[in-house]
Amino acid sequence: MTKVSVDPELCYGSGECMYRVPSVFTVADGFGSVIAGREDSGSEPEVREAAELCPSQAIVLGSQPA
Ligand code: SF4
Repeated sequence: MTKVSVDPELCYGSGECMYRVPSVFTVADGFGSVIAGREDSGSEPEVREAAELCPSQAIVLGSQPA
C-alpha cells in the first residue's frame, strides 16, 4: 500500500492534480489535497503520473504520510 499526500509547504494550488485525477485530488482553501479515504492510492498509475507532473513536486508518495 502506497500513501499519497500533498505537502502544503510546496503546493501553490495550481489544481493540475485535481484536473488529472479528480477521484483522488481536490483543491481546498487554495491548496491541493487528497480526498478523504483515498490516501492509499499512491500506487495507482495516474496518481504516480500526477506526482511526476506536479509543477512544484508537492505530491508525496511513500509508505508513510508526509
Ligand atoms: S498539482 Fe501540485 S502544486 Fe498543483 S495543486 Fe496539485 S499538489 Fe498543488
